[in-house]
Amino acid sequence: MVTKSKSKKHVYFFGGGKADGNEKMKELLGGKGANLAEMTNIKIPVPPGFTITTEVCTYYQNKKKYPAGLEMQVKKALEKVEQIMGSKFGDPDNPLLVSVRSGARRSMPGMMETVLNVGLNNVTREGLIKKTNNPRFVYDAQRRLIQMYSDVVMEKAAGIEPEEGKGIRRQLERELEKTKEQRGVKQDTELTADDLKKLIEIYKSKVKEVLGKDFPEDPMEQLWGGIGAVFSSWNGKRAISYRRIENIPDIWGTAVNVQVMVFGNMGDSSATGVAFTRNPATGEKIFYGEWLTNAQGEDVVAGIRTPNPINEAGKSEHNINLLSLEKSMPEIYRNLDKIQKSLEKHYHDMQDIEFTIQEGRLWMLQCRIGKRNGPAAVRMALDMTKEKLIKKEEAVMRVTASQIDELLHPIVDPKAEKTAKLIGKGLPAGPGGGTGMAVFSANDAVNWTKQGKKVILVREETNPEDVEGMRAAEAVLTARGGLTSHAALVARGWGKCCIVGAGTISVEYENKIFKAGDVTVKEGDWITLNGSRGYVYLGQLPMVKATEENKDFIAFMKLCDSIRKLKVRANADTPEDAKKAREFGAEGIGLFRIEHMFYGKGAEEPLFKLRKMIVSKDEKERRSALDELFPHMKSDIKGTLDVMEGLPVTIRTIDPPLHEFVPRREDEKEKLAGSLGINMEEFSKRADNLHENNPMMGHRGVRLGITYPEITEMQARAIFEASAELLKEGKKVFPEIMIPVVCTVEEVVHQAKIVEKVHKEVSEKYGLKKIPHMIGTMIEIPRAALTAGKIAQTAEFFSFGTNDLTQMGFGFSRDDIGGFLPDYLEKKILKADPFQTLDQEGIGELIDLGIKRGRKTNPTLKVGICGEHGGDAESVKFCHRVGMNYVSCSPYRVPIARLALAQAVAETKK
Ligand code: PEP
Ligand code: MG
Repeated sequence: MVTKSKSKKHVYFFGGGKADGNEKMKELLGGKGANLAEMTNIKIPVPPGFTITTEVCTYYQNKKKYPAGLEMQVKKALEKVEQIMGSKFGDPDNPLLVSVRSGARRSMPGMMETVLNVGLNNVTREGLIKKTNNPRFVYDAQRRLIQMYSDVVMEKAAGIEPEEGKGIRRQLERELEKTKEQRGVKQDTELTADDLKKLIEIYKSKVKEVLGKDFPEDPMEQLWGGIGAVFSSWNGKRAISYRRIENIPDIWGTAVNVQVMVFGNMGDSSATGVAFTRNPATGEKIFYGEWLTNAQGEDVVAGIRTPNPINEAGKSEHNINLLSLEKSMPEIYRNLDKIQKSLEKHYHDMQDIEFTIQEGRLWMLQCRIGKRNGPAAVRMALDMTKEKLIKKEEAVMRVTASQIDELLHPIVDPKAEKTAKLIGKGLPAGPGGGTGMAVFSANDAVNWTKQGKKVILVREETNPEDVEGMRAAEAVLTARGGLTSHAALVARGWGKCCIVGAGTISVEYENKIFKAGDVTVKEGDWITLNGSRGYVYLGQLPMVKATEENKDFIAFMKLCDSIRKLKVRANADTPEDAKKAREFGAEGIGLFRIEHMFYGKGAEEPLFKLRKMIVSKDEKERRSALDELFPHMKSDIKGTLDVMEGLPVTIRTIDPPLHEFVPRREDEKEKLAGSLGINMEEFSKRADNLHENNPMMGHRGVRLGITYPEITEMQARAIFEASAELLKEGKKVFPEIMIPVVCTVEEVVHQAKIVEKVHKEVSEKYGLKKIPHMIGTMIEIPRAALTAGKIAQTAEFFSFGTNDLTQMGFGFSRDDIGGFLPDYLEKKILKADPFQTLDQEGIGELIDLGIKRGRKTNPTLKVGICGEHGGDAESVKFCHRVGMNYVSCSPYRVPIARLALAQAVAETKK
C-alpha cells in the first residue's frame, strides 16, 4: 500500500468555534496565536483566521525561502475563512480583508510589525463601498494600508534605511498634512471621501517616486508581502535589542497571524478598546479599561484621543465626564463583561484584552496575561487564592522578586521618569529611587544633611571611611565598582538606593563636579537615581511612596512562610539592623560582621582603639589595646543578642586585612601615634609593615587569629560575657561563632581550642554550667569546599561565603570586576554577573560537593549561605535544592528570600 507523504503542518486555522491549536501551543503558535485558538475553542467571538508557525519563521530566516507546502496550506486556510465569512479575498464584489500580525512566544510589545486592511485595491474597494455604503471609511482604510504597507513591507523589510525624517511613512504623513492644509481642516476626520480618494493616488505616486516601485494592487502579493515582512521584523533592530534586554532567545522566532479585519471605525455603532479583567495598578477586582467610538485599535494606545472609561466603576478625575461603554452600549457591555469573567476563570489569571465593536457586534481580538506592578501582583495573588481561583503554590509563583522589592522602597514616579533627562547608566545596586543634591565627599554629605538638605553622595568609589556620608545621603552613586563593591554591599544592607559602576560619568573631586556626556553636574545640583534600573537623571523627580506596612504584603509573606522549608536569616551588624531584620521576618542572624561596629555612627572611639591595636608592636601592647576595645565589642554584641531573643546569631570573627583600618588623614595619624607614645617616623614604619600587595588574599580572616590568637580570644570573651550577662538576666541567647577565610581544618581546630578555653573560663566566672553556642566556619575558599569532610569533623556548621567563593573560584577580584564584566555580558561569555546571581554550574558545584562531603562526616551539620547571593531569588532556589538549612541576606532582601524559598517548593510540585 502506498501512503501519501504528508507535508508538515505549518498553518493552524481558527474560526467558527473550532481551532487547530490551543493555549498550550505557545512555542509553536506564539502567545497571540495560541490564545486566539483557545478563545475560539471556548466559543468566544473571535474573527476567524490562521496562524503560521514560529518554525516557519526560523526556516525563513535561515533559508530565505518558505518550506514546501506552506503556500497550499495558507490557501486552504484562507478558503475556510472565506467560507465562514461568506466573502472572498480579492473578490471585486464581496471582498474579504485581513490583518497580518506578529506574535512571539512571549509578548514583545511594539517591537515587531503589523499590516492592516490587506486585500484592498482600487477594484475591491468598490465592492466594499457597495457592501458598507460608506465610501469615506473604505478610502480611509485603503490610505492606511498604503501608509503601513509601504513602510513595513516595501521599506523596512527590504532593508532600506532612510535618513532621519525621509522614511516613506513620514513622507506620506506630510502629504496627508498638505491635503488638510489645502482643505483648510485640522482633523483627519474632517477630510471627505473625495479628499481621501485623491490622497490615495498621491500616496501611490509618492511610493513610486521614493521607493522606485509600484504599490502592489494584487491582494495575494499584498498578503505574502505582509507575511514576509512580519517574519523579517523578528530580526529588526528594535526586536533584537529588546530580546537582548529581556533575555529572549533569537531562535524562538515569531508566528504570523492572518485574521479577518473587523472595523471599529465604521460609524457611531462601532468602537474599539483595551481592558484588564482587574485593575493592573492596584490589583482591585474591578473590570478596568478604555474605549473609543468610531476608532481603530491603535488609536486607543496611541494617545491621540483621550479614551473613555469602560465602565462607571473605573472613572477617575481625568475622565469623569466621558461616556462609559456601560452607559453608552449597555447590551454590548454586559456581553463583554461576561466574556472577561469567563476568560479570567478559564485562564485563572488577570487578562489583558483587546476588543472591537463593528456595527453593534462585539469581537475579541486578543487576550493575554496582563502585566501588573508589585502591589497589584500581591493583591491579586491573595484575592485569587481566597476566591479559590488558584492554589497557594500558584499564588507564590504569581509574584516576582522585583515586584516584592517594589513594595519595600520608594520609587521614582514612572510618569515623571518618561520625560526626564537621562544622563548616565550604571549597575542597579540598591533598589528604589532617590533624589537629592550632588555632593562629592562623605563629610559634605553629613554636613549638608545636618543642615536639612537632601543629598546624593557621588564618588569614584567608596571605602569604609565614607560610610557615615553614605548613611546620611539619600542615595549613592559611584563611577566604579561592581555589585559586591563596598558601596553596593553597604547600601543594599540599609535598603538604600544606590548605583555603582556608572562608567559613563567622570568625577572631578577638585572641582566638585561630575561630567556625564555633555552635561556637567556641579555640587548642589539636583539629580535623581532609579536604583532598580541603574538610571541617573538630571533634576529632582518626584517619588512614589512605598508601602512597607502594607497589609497585603504581610499576608502574602505569611502565605510564603506556610510553604517554604528553609529558614531565612539576615546579615545584620548592629542592634538597629537586627530589629529591622526581625520586622522583615528574619529568623536569626546569619552574619554579624564584627568589624562593622568600627564604621558609622558612634564608631570614632572603638575605631580609635582598634587602630591602636592594629599598629601595636608586640603582644603586650596589643593586649592592652584589646582590653580597651573589649567593652565596646561586648556591648554591641549584647545589644544584638538581646534583640534576637534566643534566635541564632552567627558572629564572625574579624575578617578584613588590618591595613584597611590604618588612618589616612594626617591629624588622625598624629593622634594615634601620640596615644601610643611614638613619633611619626615610627608610626609610618609600622603602618608600612601592614601594607599588602594583594590584601584580599593576604593577612585576613582566620589568618589574623592564627598570628594573633589574643584577638580571637578577646572576641570570644566578648561574645560569651555578653551571652552570660543576658542569661543571668533570664534572657535567651544562641551565639554561633564563625571563623572566616578558612582553607584547612587545622585552622578551625586551632581557633576552636581558643574559643572553648574562653567558654570554660567565662562559664566559671558567671557560675554557669555552659553557655549555649556553636562553633563553625565559613566555606569561601575552594579548598575548604573540597576538604569539607575533614572540616565538618570540627565545625558544627558551615556558612557558604559565596562572595569570596565566587572571587576565588573564578579568580575575579570582586572589587575590580567593573572593568571587564560589561564586555563579558555583552559578548555572552557570561550569562550574568556571578557576584549577583550564583554561578550554579561552577561555584554551585563546589557548594553541593561541600555540603555532601560535610554531611557525610557530620550528619547533623547545619548549613547556610551568607554571601550576597542569599538574597538573590534564583540563587536562593538553588540553596533549597542542595539542601541547606537556611539562607541569610541583607534585611531588605529577607522578603525576597522568603518568596523565593516558597517558589522553590512550588516549582517542585508543578
Ligand atoms: C562572603 O565572602 O561571601 C562573605 C559573606 O564575606 P565578606 O563579604 O564579608 O567577605
Ligand atoms: Mg568573605
